[in-house]
Amino acid sequence: MSIADNLKAIRARISEAALRAGRDPDTVRLVAVSKTKPAAAIEEARNCGQVIFGENYVQELVAKTAELPEGISWHFIGNLQSNKVRQIVGLVDLIHSVDRISLAREIDRQWGELGRRCDVLIQVNISQEATKGGTRCDELLDLVAEVARLPHLRVKGLMTMPPFFDNPEAARPYFRSLRELAQQVEAAEIPGVEMCELSMGMSGDFEAAIAEGATLVRVGSALFGEREYR
Ligand SMILES: *Cc1c(COP(=O)(O)O)cnc(C)c1O
Repeated sequence: MSIADNLKAIRARISEAALRAGRDPDTVRLVAVSKTKPAAAIEEARNCGQVIFGENYVQELVAKTAELPEGISWHFIGNLQSNKVRQIVGLVDLIHSVDRISLAREIDRQWGELGRRCDVLIQVNISQEATKGGTRCDELLDLVAEVARLPHLRVKGLMTMPPFFDNPEAARPYFRSLRELAQQVEAAEIPGVEMCELSMGMSGDFEAAIAEGATLVRVGSALFGEREYR
């Protein structure tokens, strides 16, 4: 299967999952996760109308933004070290993985120097796995409130990565929890905070995530094929 074929199939599955959940398919956007994949693969997907691409590694993102033409919306979805933020300033439209105030402060400082605002999602570690990034559920509201006070940053929603299950239905409670957490944040009415995005669901479980309200699904291997390293 080519990337074009994969993309078509994934788009159809996204639409069907949205319709099954009684949702407008246009409320779910596909983030094509292109980490470790060459620029040519990104161009192929771009030529089929794919606009949003997600990257996990700073160096790789910087290299690809230099290599590829404009018109791509880059999202940063991986663990981000504060000392690397300045390398991606202005290059990305959304950072999915803000999980601590020190990182948020550095994003605020760097985007402030540009005179722009950066849209971010707060990553939540619902399963509390030690290997995963994300704030704890019980610390989420405090973190959002603190991040919301930074002038060059805008909180647009939440992101999570559930544990891996063979059966995607097993991930659903985690997706549901993220939606409920977003509702709690919304109810807190923190000035400047909007919960419009729920970034959840990957190749193996994006349909379950859509059933629970995902607005951004991050799909890599189902689109570009298995990754050879990392
Ligand atoms: C790699 C990655 C994905 C995509 O995973 P696939 O299973 O290949 O679809 C999604 N989100 C994050 C944060 C990732 O690191």
